[in-house]
Parts: sequence; C-alpha cells; structure tokens
Amino acid sequence: MEKTMDKIVALAKGRGFVYPGSEIYGGLANSWDYGPLGVEFKNNVKRAWWQKFVQECPYNVGLDAAILMNPEVWVASGHVGGFNDPLMDCRNCKERFRADKLIEDYAAENGLDIGPVEAMSKEEMEAFIAEHIVCPSCGEKDFTPIRQFNLMFKTFQGVNEDTAAQIYLRPETAQGIFVNFKNVLRTTRRKMPMGIGQIGKSFRNEITPGNFIFRIREFEQMELEFFCNPKEEFEWFNYWKDTCHNWLLSLGLSDENLKLRDHAPEELSHYSNATTDIEYRFPFGWGELWGIADRTDFDLKAHMGHSGESLEYLDPVTNEKYVPYCIEPSLGADRVALAFLCEAYDEETLENGDTRTVMHFHPALAPFKAAVLPLQKKLSETSDKLFAGLAKHFNVDYDLAGSIGKRYRREDEIGTPYCVTVDFESLEDGCVTVRDRDTMAQERISMDSVKQFIEDKLVF
Ligand code: ATP
Repeated sequence: MEKTMDKIVALAKGRGFVYPGSEIYGGLANSWDYGPLGVEFKNNVKRAWWQKFVQECPYNVGLDAAILMNPEVWVASGHVGGFNDPLMDCRNCKERFRADKLIEDYAAENGLDIGPVEAMSKEEMEAFIAEHIVCPSCGEKDFTPIRQFNLMFKTFQGVNEDTAAQIYLRPETAQGIFVNFKNVLRTTRRKMPMGIGQIGKSFRNEITPGNFIFRIREFEQMELEFFCNPKEEFEWFNYWKDTCHNWLLSLGLSDENLKLRDHAPEELSHYSNATTDIEYRFPFGWGELWGIADRTDFDLKAHMGHSGESLEYLDPVTNEKYVPYCIEPSLGADRVALAFLCEAYDEETLENGDTRTVMHFHPALAPFKAAVLPLQKKLSETSDKLFAGLAKHFNVDYDLAGSIGKRYRREDEIGTPYCVTVDFESLEDGCVTVRDRDTMAQERISMDSVKQFIEDKLVF
C-alpha cells in the first residue's frame, strides 16, 4: 500500500476532517477548515497534550494569553527588528526563496562548515549565493537582491489606521507566557522548577506554505516554557526531550517514522545551549514536528531589559537569586495532527478479497470512541438508550443505515475504534457485540459494561 498525501487529503476532505477554507468563494490559499470529525480529532490531540504537559505534571500550570499584545513585546523578543527573513526571487522562474534556507541547505548537502547563517550580512549572503547556488526549481543562476520580509501579520487597534495604532497577530504563543511569568509565579506561589503550558493560535505570513496542514499561515501551537535553575538546564532539557518523544510513541506514532535531530553547536541559535528537533517521516519527506530548545535566560532577560520589570527569582531555601533558564518544547497542533493522520492511514485486503481503508487512531485521538449500530430499526429504543448513556462520557456515533458490513467500513474509515452492535438477543440478555476496529475480532459484553470497557482503552 502506498501512503500518499493525495489519499490522505481526499479522505480528510471526503469524511469531514479538513475542508479547504472559504471553498464556495474559490478558497483562500493555504487556509483550511476543520470539519465535524476534524474538530473532534484536533481537540483530542490538544487534550492529550494538555493532559501530559499540564494536568499530569506536578510542576506545570496552564495559561491562555491574548493573541494581540503590546507591540513592545515583539521588539523585546526580536521579532520586530533583527529577525526578519531574507527573501529573494529567481528572475527566471519567479520562484521565491528564503536566502538563509538556501544557504543552510547547500552547506548541509555539501558538508560545508560555514558557521551560523544568521551571522552573515545581507551582502555576504548574496555573494555566497551568487558563487555557489543555482535555483532549486529551474536550475538557473539569476536571483534578485535580498529583501527583508517580516512574517508577522499586521493589524490596527482602534479606528485610526496609522502606525501608532499598528499591532501584530502573535507569531508564537511563547511570549504570552514570558510576559506573565511574574504573575503566575506570584499567584500560584510556585517554586522553581515551574512550567507554563499554553495552546493557542499563532499567525505567520509564511512565504512557502503548503503540504496540506503542515505549513499554514494560521495555526495552533502547544508550547511549554519550563523555567528552572540554570544549573539544571541539561537535566531538564533531556527530561522534556524524552517526555515529548514518549508522548508521540504513546499515541501511536512509530519510532521508525521519528528522528531526534540534535542541533550541532554551530547551528544553535545564539541564545540556545541545546536544541533538538523531533522530525516525522511524512509521505512528502522528513519534517520538523517539535522544536525543543534550551533558551537559557534569553527571553526573561530580554523582557527585563525592555520592560524594566525584574523577572528574577529568589530561592526561598538557598536565598540564591537568579533569572531562571527556560526549556521550551514547541509543537504545532495542526502539524502533529497531520502526523497522526498519516500514521493512522492504512488500506487492507481482507480474507474475502475486499479492501478496507482504516484509520488506526489511538482511541484517545479518534473522533468517535464508539459507534452504536442497531441491527434493525426495531431495536432503536434500546440503542438510543445505550447511545444517550455513552454520549454523556465521550463522543459516540450512531448509524442505522445500510448493511452492518457497510457500516463497519464507514467507521473503519474514520477510525472509530469500537462498533457496538445491538441485536435481538440484546433485548433478552442485555449484551451487545463489540467489534474491534484493528483486529476485527468481536466479543459479547453486557451493555452496562460498555462505558468502562471503552474508557479503559482511552488511557495512554
Ligand atoms: P519551520 O522551520 O518548519 O518553519 P520553525 O522552526 O519556524 O518551523 P518554531 O518557530 O520552532 O518553528 O515553531 C514551533 C513549532 O510550531 C514547529 O515545530 C511546528 O510544529 C509549528 N509550526 C511553526 N510554523 C508553523 C506553520 N506555519 N504551520 C504549522 N505549524 C507550524
């Protein structure tokens, strides 16, 4: 079976996971809307992250900061000013590139040690490209000069659309955490180490969006900023790296499709003492899923410098005073949802020669945890009651239409892990048949135990 993006996108669209955005108006490039199954699925992904990174972790708390922030935040963070992306176009084929990425890719492919690209000036980048690089699209060597481009979406607050009123849609959720560091520390009376987790929308005017929901301009991030004593930075860095890796495995990604790529010292951002990207093997190739970075005290110090507020921490036991170091695991909700979709997709040939498409989602992520299938309409009273009881606890489908075989196929295709069939015997013995999506094995259990049976399977 060949797993292609075309097949996955077609299933996602056809079954109501993800639709092209604004479709009846011809769409809006690279925008996507999550349909009835997609919203359940993505909510489950976010819930699973929250559970592991906030709920189950004794050190961590949650936050939901505003998307619109004081523009000074983006000056302090470096998003306004230094961090603009250098762009250039190929004059021949009109393709647009990020100059720094072209150079990085060239250096990596040719084993060149050129040091950090960020340290190169615009002129140095242009000279390097002119000397070494041909257009990856057409092979020509005719690039425009570099233009600086800021990826942040701009908007205006209030009625006056002048520069004084200009604000930005946040390009990452992390800064909302840094600016609330002091508030959270004070109001929760926490000690170090302390983590703050947040899930929310971020916006980047990406130059080359694409690959379905892999790179989009409006996306959701799940970020943890974990603050600790500087002496413990590597201990916690490794702890979170392992925790992230295990979270992906526990929800069904296979290790052969995952790669932990440690950044070499020369590749590290100037503020980072260690960075690892967790990459996933998508049908279109390896792509970054999760960036885990030891950001040292860079962010808190930057905000201290700009805001004038002290963000130092005084250890109540040792009386040691320090600016905490921060370990940041940053994950895209849409991007990891895509990884789970790709991993789950399967086409199987059955014993009788039929084929089925099946999404092998972990039950915790599946849009429906179960489907109630009355064998006949006459059984709907009992089935309705079963449905109503289960739906109080988790999301359940209900399907009366078509042969039982067809109904199984439909549930397989949307990844429903358990089909619960109500038949005439159920009226006598109070039992139902539960069919397992992956093994297709069936077992008969009492109607009263269905809820517990399924809940046990949701643990990860
Ligand atoms: P990339 O190199 O792919 O652009 P990045 O290194 O800029 O990513 P970060 O700024 O570290 O990404 O963001 C953290 C995470 O947020 C990424 O690992 C990814 O999962 C997610 N993410 C970033 N940009 C996008 C996007 N445009 N669309 C979807 N997810 C994104």
